[in-house]
Amino acid sequence: MSELSRFFIELAERWQRRWREAGVFEPEPSFGVPKFFITAAYPYPNGAIHIGHGRTYLIADVLSRFHRHMERRVLFPMGFHYTGTPILTIAEAIAAGDKTVIEEYMEIYGVPEEEIRKMGDPLYLARYFHEQSKRAMERFGLGIDWSREFTTIDPEYQRFIQWQFEKLRKRGLIVRGKHPVGWCPRHSMPVGAHDTKDDKEPDVGQWTLIYFVDGEGLTFPTATLRPETAPGVTNLWINPDADYVVAEFDGRRVVVSRDAAFRLSFQGEVKVLREAKGREFVGRRVQNPVTGEWVEIYEARFVDPKVGTGVVMSVPAHAPYDYAALRDMGVERLIPLIRVEGYGEYPAKEVVERMGIKSQTDPALEEATKEVYSAEYNRGVMREEVAERVGQHLPEPARSMVRAVFKMFFAGRPVREARDFIARWLVESGLGGVMYDIMNKPVYCRCGTEIVVKVLEDQWFINYGDPRWKEMARKLIEEMAIVPGEAKTHFLATVDWLDKRACARTRGLGTPLPWSRGWVIESLSDSTIYMAFYTVIKKIRQFGIRPEQLTEEFWDYVFLGQGSVEEVARRTGVPPEALKAIREEFDYWYPLDSRNSGKDLIPNHLTFFIFNHVAIFPREKWPRQIVANGWVLREGEKMSKSKRNVLPLDKAVEMYGPDPLRATLAIAAEVEQDLDFRDAEARRNAQQLMAIYALVQRIAQTAEERAPSSLDLWLVSEVAQILERVKEAYQRVRVRQAAVDALYNAKSVFDQYLSMVEKPSKLAVEAAKAWVVAMEPIAPHLAEELWVALGGKGFAALAPWPSLKADPAALLAKRYVDMLIEDVKKIPTFGPGTRRVVIYVNRHFEWAKAALGGDVRAAIQAGAPPQIAKRLVDLLRSLGEEVRSLVASVENFDELEALTAFKPYVEKTLGVSVEVHDAESASAPDLGGKKKAALPLKPGIYLSS
Ligand SMILES: [Zn+2]
Repeated sequence: MSELSRFFIELAERWQRRWREAGVFEPEPSFGVPKFFITAAYPYPNGAIHIGHGRTYLIADVLSRFHRHMERRVLFPMGFHYTGTPILTIAEAIAAGDKTVIEEYMEIYGVPEEEIRKMGDPLYLARYFHEQSKRAMERFGLGIDWSREFTTIDPEYQRFIQWQFEKLRKRGLIVRGKHPVGWCPRHSMPVGAHDTKDDKEPDVGQWTLIYFVDGEGLTFPTATLRPETAPGVTNLWINPDADYVVAEFDGRRVVVSRDAAFRLSFQGEVKVLREAKGREFVGRRVQNPVTGEWVEIYEARFVDPKVGTGVVMSVPAHAPYDYAALRDMGVERLIPLIRVEGYGEYPAKEVVERMGIKSQTDPALEEATKEVYSAEYNRGVMREEVAERVGQHLPEPARSMVRAVFKMFFAGRPVREARDFIARWLVESGLGGVMYDIMNKPVYCRCGTEIVVKVLEDQWFINYGDPRWKEMARKLIEEMAIVPGEAKTHFLATVDWLDKRACARTRGLGTPLPWSRGWVIESLSDSTIYMAFYTVIKKIRQFGIRPEQLTEEFWDYVFLGQGSVEEVARRTGVPPEALKAIREEFDYWYPLDSRNSGKDLIPNHLTFFIFNHVAIFPREKWPRQIVANGWVLREGEKMSKSKRNVLPLDKAVEMYGPDPLRATLAIAAEVEQDLDFRDAEARRNAQQLMAIYALVQRIAQTAEERAPSSLDLWLVSEVAQILERVKEAYQRVRVRQAAVDALYNAKSVFDQYLSMVEKPSKLAVEAAKAWVVAMEPIAPHLAEELWVALGGKGFAALAPWPSLKADPAALLAKRYVDMLIEDVKKIPTFGPGTRRVVIYVNRHFEWAKAALGGDVRAAIQAGAPPQIAKRLVDLLRSLGEEVRSLVASVENFDELEALTAFKPYVEKTLGVSVEVHDAESASAPDLGGKKKAALPLKPGIYLSS
């Protein structure tokens, strides 16, 4: 801990204590007063929270503090997510003596040895990190209402989640049945993004199997994503060196890779008869079930036994890999199937040749494949003559019948339609099947086992595939504010692909499924509408309501306003006044005004949050905003436990102090960008805050009572402008922009002011107080300290947003003087030898105003001599937008007065002495003939040594 961080920590502890004692962050509803209810995703207490969590919480805290200044009641609560496998798997690893996990926890999180031994108990582990994370959040200065804190295994919460699930079930959104899910073979349990290493969502996809059969009745099921190309197969591929098996599957004797047999065994009965190397099957002839043609099995080392079945069909006209591999063997046999505008008969061959691909190992084949697949899928049409290739082995009338079907649904159809048709046709006619697989493999369970796809028979699912439900979710996404705006398309895409999702597990902490024994609701399903629970839990406890009183009628009344209060009171034993107060509190705080989390939760949690809100609550209670922030890197690298570079939040607070850490997490990147946390930057921000501290103390201690000078008015105006920008930035969730203005740009203005005045005035104290309020959301502890020093009443945290007025004349004076300084510097003879600058001002501001419209005649009418009017119009045209609008809004502006007021500033900046004259004053000497050069807003300048 450095001297500087110690200073900030001590200061913060003092204010954290005072906030706590005064209950600053524990709001009660105040009817008629506007409110702002904001939440950030609660953490799993399976480790210490780090600066990545810290960033999300900070953004929520900044917004909540800002809205408090906008005179709203603000609620920012926090809970802890004990549910499911994220905690369980860590506890299991520790209990099993897993060296890596234990070392990580001791080294990165600093867990003492006597504690780590107890962490084999998941509940102990959760409680430990719960308390530790809570302490870190407090020390970080988050304005959280802890009176509403809960965990997801509290009995009240469980009653609430059970109510939610009964509601979903009654609305037909929970289904039971057969469905493929990501699955950990070791845990025998479905796994989602929060159960996997690196939180990777397993992408469950589907291969079409096509059964090619050899002369002995042995089936070679090829796995393909493009079944529509089956009529153009010229050969199959098998990896001669890989391990295969002969097995019974789907009523057949099949040859698949050993790995595929393992994966298939989670989707149906697989009985392995014997093992074999791939080369045993090379050279066999098999029959294409679609065309009846016999093709040969060739060897190919590019066939990956871990993908699909390890048996691949070859379609060289439309698959660049197949074309290149066959060409390497000196074989060219091409069967065209698909017409695509912009390509000839054999798109694969064409692209391979155009890209100059040399062999089947050329990495450019990936690119070629993407091009051909996407062109064919999006714009391709099956050729008419393809139907004639089908059923060559069938006797009449079967052959004509199958060709008639293919003519209707396949030939001449767009590729996407033809694909759906043939996939269904293969399954229905028993010539093929379906195999599920993890398409973004490998994905690992937190226990280290690679995930497979299991077809579950009796699983409970939330049916996010329900089209009417999807429609409502889309409606909410269209209505709500999403930061960043681009994320909206991610949400809509997620709504499109989401389907049934397993919502219960057979193990882990959590809430039992109310209607079926042995199931626990999993963690991404019990965390979708809990924001509503914050609004009621405090009063449930205050009224001493027991968990068994929290019945369906209770929640229906509280959340949905259903039933009469007397009736619900009679049936639950909860007093009517308690019911009313709880209902009122929910009604006051809901809907949620802002939901904050990292962007990794867009494809799961945040979308489920949208779905469940539209399913449970009436439209006026739907959430209003989502803020999804980017990642946090450390010194340019991704933080990971294995690299030991994870920075826990409490450690970061210790290293830099809370306010410097907050400033750094606010300033280093705008909300949606990835943030690279750098030690040097954090130290620089600590210096900056320290400089602000010293500067404000100086103002507080030296300010004097006096009539406001131009400089004082300028300061107030400049600060007023910055405050307006900061306010707009907070409103638009541009936290970085707000922080840069509040901590850096405002500071420069005060620095300049102090360099220009002998002593600050009381007006500067008012400006500084306003500034302190603007910085409070970012650096709240420092703000409180300075607020007191400046004589502020109460807490800075509770001060209303300041209403400073900008005086355009004062701003114009400063801009004018700065332009003059730039003009002097541009004079070629200006240099170290320049001792004196004589300035001649033209005081006819009314000419400048008249010239603003760009009309020379208007300037002449205002009294400007014709030779000046033309130059003046050009001058005004060349000025920046801000200055032009100031000229327009200012009635009277006297350059002589402005220069007199800012004379010390000009002299100091240029390192010269300054003399100012009215160009029309007869008594002034006309040095260098510069009198006549003076235009309004552009004085004549004479330099002398
Ligand atoms: Zn596992």
